[in-house]
Amino acid sequence: MSYFSDLGLAEPILRALGGKGYSDPTPIQKQAIPALLEGRDLLGIAQTGTGKTAAFSLPSLHRLAADPKPRKPASCRMLVLSPTRELAAQIAENMRGYAKYLNLSIQCVFGGVPVGKNARALVPGCDVLVATPGRLLDLIEQRALTLRNVEIFVLDEADQMMDLGFIVPLKRIAKLLPDKRQSLFFSATMPKAIAELGRQFIHDPVRVEVAPQATTAERVEQYATFVNQPEKQALLTLTLRAGLADGSLERALVFTRTKHGADRVVRHLASAGVAAAAIHGNKSQAQRTAALRAFREGSTPVLVATDIAARGIDVSGVSHVFNFELPNVPEQYVHRIGRTARAGADGIAVSFVAPDEKPYLRDIERLTGVRLAALPLPEDFTAQASRLPKASRKPARPQQNANRDRPAAQKPERSGEARPKRRFRPRRKQGVGSHRGKVRQAV
Ligand code: AMP
Repeated sequence: MSYFSDLGLAEPILRALGGKGYSDPTPIQKQAIPALLEGRDLLGIAQTGTGKTAAFSLPSLHRLAADPKPRKPASCRMLVLSPTRELAAQIAENMRGYAKYLNLSIQCVFGGVPVGKNARALVPGCDVLVATPGRLLDLIEQRALTLRNVEIFVLDEADQMMDLGFIVPLKRIAKLLPDKRQSLFFSATMPKAIAELGRQFIHDPVRVEVAPQATTAERVEQYATFVNQPEKQALLTLTLRAGLADGSLERALVFTRTKHGADRVVRHLASAGVAAAAIHGNKSQAQRTAALRAFREGSTPVLVATDIAARGIDVSGVSHVFNFELPNVPEQYVHRIGRTARAGADGIAVSFVAPDEKPYLRDIERLTGVRLAALPLPEDFTAQASRLPKASRKPARPQQNANRDRPAAQKPERSGEARPKRRFRPRRKQGVGSHRGKVRQAV
């Protein structure tokens, strides 16, 4: 008997979990599932990567299956709200896996695909609907969906919802939900404003917290390289090229602050022979899906992302996270580096810090309580950098199909399992940063 069967989860769910090889629960699953099976509301402080999706999906699917009801047109029994399209798609995919042997229909709707297609899919009604807030409201306005029959409501990544300005849509959605329902509210961080938002959705919740707020993943080695902004591109290109060539770098996520910055980095990498793709809110949905698929499959080992697009994405085997620019919101740093060291693997996070970004670094170190180890520039950096090809000046493809899930007018975008054999370990000069994540070179 596994822990999951001890909980009394329905046999078809246990079979699906067996197929996935889950035998032990993750800490959030252990804390959340029994209370959710009882129908309690839940306030969860957890990042993605903690097994959060199964924590809310398994008991919910169990409860839906235990009380079968005919599907009502344009209606759903469970609603999951996600801030980004990629996360919505990922949640729906995971839930379909857990519900593989159940007779439950799971739909997913988000912007970037024709709204008519979503509306048609909802005509017969479904059991579970995963949605981004903007598209959900569009569908409700078009009378393609009613929330009247929602029994279980999940709000995921509440803090990112706030960052993206989804507060007004969320309040509108809250008014459309029936009073009698089970509500689950998840956030990676719980500042006051988020807790207040939570109070509007949840009633007498069980509170679960899997990692103290704003702790950086323990297994991530964190480094900072102090470099002038114009030199960052060469540093990134050389580091990636060397790591990919000797196999020490498996898959890297590079974070830039702006969408154009992400495109520029990709162009430079391409001209230096490093296969990379960009993912951000100006890309069409097809481009975003293709970039993510290529990254997951490993055909494109480098994904350059803005915070919005990357948040919550679960890709196994991300060995490195590079902060091409530091986030100005320190919590974002925690989310970014949480993309690596998932599922028990080690990870390496390297931040490129320009002189004017030092205050951001200080904020990050204050928040996380970790000092980033200084990683000097390679010794022959200037010579190597001068030999790099110039990037093509071709502008990024015209913006199309901008992300309609996100309120407009935001310039900077805010927002596992294969274990590699060898990892690129940044070489440090003697005497500098002799133990990981603790020492910082004078800046
Ligand atoms: P999430 O936080 O929901 O994005 O999940 C992170 C990863 O952990 C996903 O790849 C899940 O498939 C995996 N996972 C979730 N629960 C378990 C479990 N109990 N055992 C093994 N893997 C799990």
